[in-house]
Amino acid sequence: QAKIAGKNCHRFYNATMNQAMERRVYLEHDLRGAWNRGELSLAYQPIYRLSDGALVGAETLLRWLHPELGLVAPAAFIDVAEQSGVIETLGPLVLDAACRDAARWQAVAGEAGPLFLSVNVSPRQLRTGDLASLIGQSLADTGLAPALLHIELTETAVLGDEAHVSRLLERIRELGVKVWLDDFGTGFSGLSHLRRVPVDGVKIDRSFIADILHDTDDLALTGAIISMAHSLGIVVVAEGVEKEGQYAVLRERGCDLAQGFWLGPPVGAEQFLKLLDPAEA
Ligand code: C2E
Ligand code: MG
Ligand code: MG
Ligand code: MG
Repeated sequence: QAKIAGKNCHRFYNATMNQAMERRVYLEHDLRGAWNRGELSLAYQPIYRLSDGALVGAETLLRWLHPELGLVAPAAFIDVAEQSGVIETLGPLVLDAACRDAARWQAVAGEAGPLFLSVNVSPRQLRTGDLASLIGQSLADTGLAPALLHIELTETAVLGDEAHVSRLLERIRELGVKVWLDDFGTGFSGLSHLRRVPVDGVKIDRSFIADILHDTDDLALTGAIISMAHSLGIVVVAEGVEKEGQYAVLRERGCDLAQGFWLGPPVGAEQFLKLLDPAEA
């Protein structure tokens, strides 16, 4: 009996593997032409300053509306884009479109002050092409002030070739662009990265924030990240704020900025403009 179950399990596993592989090939194929067919768009999630609750910026998040599959989550296609190399053409298009939108916001934001925009950059974008030149080009094309552009990279993007990445990040920072470490705390060597890689901010991963009201260890770690970052002169952003209580605790602990569903989900460019200027709504 067990043997039969085992055999079935084995066959099922293979079928699942094949399906996963087929889906990957299929997604990769479709992703190649997706931008030109207008299936990809940018969503913006508002980022707030905790000290006064002001809207100060946004994170750019890619969205794919596939004609048959419907909305495909970045978790399902960024990886495909990265491994297939599609990200090498997609990344610069996202950067350029995002800078264009951000340049447009500044006029609307008016006296509310300038709004920054952060753009996620994948590991491959740090290793192929010249990201610093691409960024410089997008800023020149769109007229966005460099200080209003932030790039987010994960700890894994930094792994491996720290010397090359450090030099590249230095060049990006020389442009006036800020560099943030995304999903901070999920890697094993976050602290050593901060010694070797020049960054302006860290985004505390939402897995720390999720239980912050009930898990005293998570709260202690979050507090430690905040004070450590501040002693290094680094800005701290909390991700995944889903409850008012989390917002209150983070504010009390001196966290600088926050984003999350409770504060506001990612929205399209037009809807984001309404957040900036309610009169437009
Ligand atoms: P990330 O950079 O850590 O982005 C934050 C993710 O958390 C987003 O998921 C966002 O929708 C989600 N999120 C925001 N607030 C909350 C909350 O309160 N609760 C929960 N549970 N989730 C929240 P999304 O849009 O699905 O993106 C997933 C990941 O895909 C991103 O993680 C980023 O690593 C990657 N990604 C998205 N857009 C791009 C892009 O243009 N380029 C690259 N290279 N990666 C991207
Ligand atoms: Mg991010
Ligand atoms: Mg993150
Ligand atoms: Mg993430």
